[in-house]
Amino acid sequence: MKKEGDTKARKGTRSVWSGEKEYLVHGATQVPVVHSVSFGYDDIDEWFEVAIGNKQGHIYGRNTNPTVQAFEDKVKDLEGAIAATSFSTGMAAISNALSTVLVPGDRVVSIKDTYGGTNKIFTEFLPRLNIDVTLCETGNHEEIEAEVNKGCDILYIETPTNPTVKITDLKRMVKAGHGAGALVFVDNTFATPILQNPLEFGADLVIHSATKFLGGHADALGGVVCSNNKELVERIYHYREINGASLDPMAAYLLLRGMKTLHLRIKQQCESAHKIAHFLQEHDKIEAVFYPGLESHPNHEIAKKQMRDFGGMLSFSVKGELDSIREFFPKLKYANKAANLGAVETTVGPARTTSHVENTPDERAALGIPEGLVRYSVGIENVEDLIEDLEYALSFVTDK
Ligand SMILES: *Cc1c(COP(=O)(O)O)cnc(C)c1O
Repeated sequence: MKKEGDTKARKGTRSVWSGEKEYLVHGATQVPVVHSVSFGYDDIDEWFEVAIGNKQGHIYGRNTNPTVQAFEDKVKDLEGAIAATSFSTGMAAISNALSTVLVPGDRVVSIKDTYGGTNKIFTEFLPRLNIDVTLCETGNHEEIEAEVNKGCDILYIETPTNPTVKITDLKRMVKAGHGAGALVFVDNTFATPILQNPLEFGADLVIHSATKFLGGHADALGGVVCSNNKELVERIYHYREINGASLDPMAAYLLLRGMKTLHLRIKQQCESAHKIAHFLQEHDKIEAVFYPGLESHPNHEIAKKQMRDFGGMLSFSVKGELDSIREFFPKLKYANKAANLGAVETTVGPARTTSHVENTPDERAALGIPEGLVRYSVGIENVEDLIEDLEYALSFVTDK
């Protein structure tokens, strides 16, 4: 499908320039934050034309806003999509996209390891609307294909996953989904458009929590979906404009500004994550390290095939579990101990208090998440400092 925008320039150049020019005013070189709830017209005929979509323009902030549109345009360009729309949070993007398409009696097939909030939509909210959800073992492609073949309206994939960074083969999943007449949705939050473009593999919809890597500074919430299926995005936009989970212009501005350094941050985070994963793998207090860039990772080959690098997220389990985490966490100097990821600052948290806080210990065990699993989101600090910091903190872990 033909793509709009300057798709000739490389990703870094596009992170900086795309989605900006059209929105500049008064010779400013930066996109303005348009804090206006409504947009006025003296000419009621022009007003009407804009209102019914025959003419470009804005009417009311719940529908569209110029700063918000600049953000949508940048994401759209980086994902190589032809349409995008945004939301107040990543979860709003996910729930609105699902709610737009699904009706009672429909069936969703997904994986067990989706983001915790997404898992709650699948297990708590969709079933009560008489929508059947089947969650397969993450990485078990045969099981997913078999379930999809039984009938499926949406195949929902997230890769890499949170927090064990499991990988699912996008090309294979798109083939399975389309073979059954399903739409294929992909949460691309962990990879970002710098490392992976699911639309290139034929996905129907790409979803991001912009709160994480896209914004990158842990100071704004946001979500976005994009697609080469313009009609699908228009339907999702319509659902959002009526249901109201719109992105705030100030947040859009912060996300837009953050995205200008996305390619540099990702490059540094990937490079550092590699080194940290190798360091941890050799450490005698560490039981296991999960990082798709390690050859020991079960889906390393698939990751190599569909990603340009392996990302800035890793997780590891510490010998002695929670007691050991209690010993070494307070000693980490260069890491926020918080429930976030993808920021310029390194951020750590136990899976049991972050991504899987809503699950019971038994459920976590069934998902292959040890109580001592630590999620480590690599920031842009000098990697030598991060490794020294880990080494120092882990020296406080006692034998148990
Ligand atoms: C954080 C996250 C979400 C939810 O995004 P919010 O902006 O917090 O609503 C969805 N998917 C993934 C993979 C995430 O990490």
